[in-house]
Amino acid sequence: MNGVDSELVNEARELLGRAGGVVVLTGAGISADSGLATFRSADGWWKNHRPEDLATPQAFARDPRLVWEWYGLRRAAATESSPNAAHLSLARWAIDRDDVTIVTQNVDGLHTRAAESAAQNLGRQDLAGARPLELHGCLFRVRCTACEKRAAHHDPIDATSLETLPTCGSCGRMVRPDVIWFGEPLGPEIGQAFTLAQEAELCLVVGTSAVVQPAASIATVVRQGGGQVIEVNPEPTPLTPLAAVSFRAGAADMVPQLLD
Ligand code: NAD
Ligand code: ZN
Repeated sequence: MNGVDSELVNEARELLGRAGGVVVLTGAGISADSGLATFRSADGWWKNHRPEDLATPQAFARDPRLVWEWYGLRRAAATESSPNAAHLSLARWAIDRDDVTIVTQNVDGLHTRAAESAAQNLGRQDLAGARPLELHGCLFRVRCTACEKRAAHHDPIDATSLETLPTCGSCGRMVRPDVIWFGEPLGPEIGQAFTLAQEAELCLVVGTSAVVQPAASIATVVRQGGGQVIEVNPEPTPLTPLAAVSFRAGAADMVPQLLD
């Protein structure tokens, strides 16, 4: 187990500097420093429901109002939070280099907000690689349960009754959060992420417990292709044994030390 010693920081900075093709894989831990709870933390419970019981198509079919109430609270929490130093440092780095892609399991939109603010500060029009591949969707998009139409949706959710839930702009039927629920297939982003992983020389893994597949395998694929893995997480994970350097530290503290 590694503390945060400066020699390791230098080693990691050197690996990051010379690697061509970098995939950054992030999870809920990167947003913990923005005040958003991870799923598996003790406060990742709500009204005696586990996320695993709410984030399913069955839960939505049974009680859409309850599921929307929970997503409304998560959206409000994400709206009230801000990208932290780790999101911002990653966004600047990915805009600066043209061979970095951020792949996230998070649905909180904080990587996108960091990318927008970094691009603005750097006077850049495009978000480049700082625009994240969102493997599990986004809290700020909805998808129609009837016609499948997707749309951005940022307004607060009124989950007082079925009638107040958001509806489709095209057909008027009920919409659902445009996120991937347990048991649902991932979108095309996962294929793009694996293609990038096959070419990448390095995978920087930040704040994921690496137990949700296939996302965690992105790092394994990079390693199998001869690339290096660097990890930032206060706890060891199943990816720790693969990592050339693993930092037992928080994201907002550690990521800027590696990239700025
Ligand atoms: P997870 O809750 O399983 O794991 C979070 C990891 O972050 C843990 O390994 C923990 O040790 C680490 N961590 C805690 N504080 C940290 C910090 N300050 N800096 C760095 N790491 C820290 O989350 P996961 O691995 O992303 O996977 C679970 C699923 O949870 C995903 O499907 C994701 O969609 C969903 N989720 C997303 C959000 C979000 O969008 N913010 C929040 C909760 C859950
Ligand atoms: Zn519709």
